[in-house]
Amino acid sequence: MKRKHSCLALFSGGLDSILAVLFMQKLGYRVLPIFFSTPFFGAEKAQETALSMGFDLIIHDLSDIYLSILENPRYGFGKNMNPCIDCHGLMFHEAGKLMEEYKVDFIISGEVLGQRPMSQRKDAMNAVGKLSEIKDLLVRPLSQKLISDTLPIRNGWVIKNEMLDIQGRNRTRQMEMAKEYGITDYPSPGGGCLLTDAGFSRKLKDLMMYNMFDKRSIEFLKTGRHFRLDKNIKLIIGRNKNENNNLSLLAENEIVMQTKEIPGPLGIIQSVNAPTLEEIKLSGSILLRYNSRVENSSVVQYGMNFKLNNEVEIDKMLVKDIKQYQI
Ligand code: SF4
Repeated sequence: MKRKHSCLALFSGGLDSILAVLFMQKLGYRVLPIFFSTPFFGAEKAQETALSMGFDLIIHDLSDIYLSILENPRYGFGKNMNPCIDCHGLMFHEAGKLMEEYKVDFIISGEVLGQRPMSQRKDAMNAVGKLSEIKDLLVRPLSQKLISDTLPIRNGWVIKNEMLDIQGRNRTRQMEMAKEYGITDYPSPGGGCLLTDAGFSRKLKDLMMYNMFDKRSIEFLKTGRHFRLDKNIKLIIGRNKNENNNLSLLAENEIVMQTKEIPGPLGIIQSVNAPTLEEIKLSGSILLRYNSRVENSSVVQYGMNFKLNNEVEIDKMLVKDIKQYQI
């Protein structure tokens, strides 16, 4: 039966968000899945999943506003640098702003009560609703039977009895639904967001601490080994060919360095002021540490914009000395 009302669906590409969309579609609602991309959670995987499910995914970039929230999230962080409550609140809020454009009446998500420690407790769900400023327009089809009624329920656009009462961390019911809907391939829950990764979060905190917290520096965090040399300077070294390529694509006004005669990793120096010769030598000695073909010393070439027209002979750093610089 075709329903009169339609909704935007917050879509992450994870199983719960797929189920929420399919469940409401099968009830007859027009459902428009939307993915909010940030520097920490790109749209590629969600787009792939949406395509395989036959969903027409809307993608909106929230990078700028997301960075400002990340500097001081009202509800704090999860285990790592993931501000899940503020993040959900922002996404609902942004979805609320788009309702008129997409001509929808309410918003849904695949949140399941009590499933995640931080963002899906009842009080956290309320906080998300409050932050979003559209609390009364939210429906969580997978758990809506267990949570307070909102406008779409009170107005009869959505029938409470048709909603589900899934709660907790046990995913048996979602697996059963997936089977029933013929979904065999889906990402694991919580995957895809770099802010839940401990190593990435450590590097991000370093950027914040040293006032290098901007989109470009964040892009660099996704590749290579990172070293803090001083408050104004850091070094990034590719781990393999792929990472060297990625770094070379990202580099613009940074100093790039490489061993002259012996093939090895690429090093990128990110610094507020032009690095001193001492800083170049320090970077070079770390770079040589990650070149297994260099025995004790080698000539390192360096320069801006891949014009490696300077060179200096440097000793390879000892393993015991490198730890102090690793982020
Ligand atoms: S895991 Fe990442 S994307 Fe998901 S709610 Fe938390 S911060 Fe947002």
